[in-house]
Amino acid sequence: MSGEQEKINSKKIVEQVIQNVMTQNDDEASMTLEEMEKQQKEADAVLGASDADNCSYSKGYVARQALYSCLTCTIDGEMAGICLACSLTCHKDCEMVELYTKRNFRCDCGNSKMKRGCDLEKNKEPINSNNTYNHNYKGLYCTCDRPYPDPDCPPELEDDEMIQCIICEDWYHGTCLKIEKSMLEKEDNGELICIECISKHEHLQYYNTLNPETETVSEKCLRPKTKIDVGNCGMFVKESFRVDLCSCDLCKSVLNEDSLLFLIAQGDSMEEYEDIGQEKIEAENSQTDNQINSLLNNLDSRGQQEIAYGIHSLKSAISSMLGAVEDGGEVTADHVAIFKRKLEADIEERKKRRRLDA
Ligand SMILES: [Zn+2]
Ligand SMILES: [Zn+2]
Ligand SMILES: [Zn+2]
Ligand SMILES: [Zn+2]
Ligand SMILES: [Zn+2]
Ligand SMILES: [Zn+2]
Repeated sequence: MSGEQEKINSKKIVEQVIQNVMTQNDDEASMTLEEMEKQQKEADAVLGASDADNCSYSKGYVARQALYSCLTCTIDGEMAGICLACSLTCHKDCEMVELYTKRNFRCDCGNSKMKRGCDLEKNKEPINSNNTYNHNYKGLYCTCDRPYPDPDCPPELEDDEMIQCIICEDWYHGTCLKIEKSMLEKEDNGELICIECISKHEHLQYYNTLNPETETVSEKCLRPKTKIDVGNCGMFVKESFRVDLCSCDLCKSVLNEDSLLFLIAQGDSMEEYEDIGQEKIEAENSQTDNQINSLLNNLDSRGQQEIAYGIHSLKSAISSMLGAVEDGGEVTADHVAIFKRKLEADIEERKKRRRLDA
């Protein structure tokens, strides 16, 4: 084998396969490779832009971060939110509610709302007066005030996916929003504004995706001229809503009065937050690749060969296994068995060759 290094850019797949090999047992439902990749991507996107090691408290009210609520440590009757790092250290054995992400929030871990202190950041004010809370912090969602997952879900809500309102950030059942099924099932239905937020912020009604108005108020004000009556139900706005939203002086002052300026601030949308997360993970991955490659550079040629051979074995065992998996098929215990056999055979072969070398 030449001393040339193998560039490792399939790190994620390797990690997933190893994870799958470690946890695979016969009764466990197996996952398709696509599902594995999708899950990893979603987790990276939500968590990637948040710090897993340092409490976010010192950053103040963070525009957007992954948040949790601890049902074990929060004082009865209080609501509190905890950053990613605190959820992993201070509350690792607690009963937690995953809040996905929330905007403009400062970590409450260890303050006057909690039964215990924070291990990561001792110096905290007793209260974060700018934080806002809703029933999500108690693990409840929607106008129906139900938990998710919902063990006693009523049959009419069983097929409902939950959708997040971009204004109040609560999650809603389509049924409870009284939005038509055909609208809910549309792939590109855009972003949701819930019933309560629509009635509070009349200005947003102009931007309903169902509004056929093409004329704007004037050349300066780009708000649609007329709106349609949505009645007492939720509505969708286009994916490009934040860009489309007119920010002329008059519209801006309306948004300001309604405390909605965050809609035209940069970095508020989930999409932007997720992009930052992805970029961070990609940067970390390429850093790992560089570290591995520089490690290889510093080894003597024998060491280089050993590692390169190990990577080669792992890769070829994975490709044998993937070869046996049909496109979009499932990785089953049988496939994992093929992977293990191939890896064992390679290691055996390597040992034999080493004995011959000696
Ligand atoms: Zn924290
Ligand atoms: Zn806790
Ligand atoms: Zn903490
Ligand atoms: Zn509901
Ligand atoms: Zn809302
Ligand atoms: Zn305007």
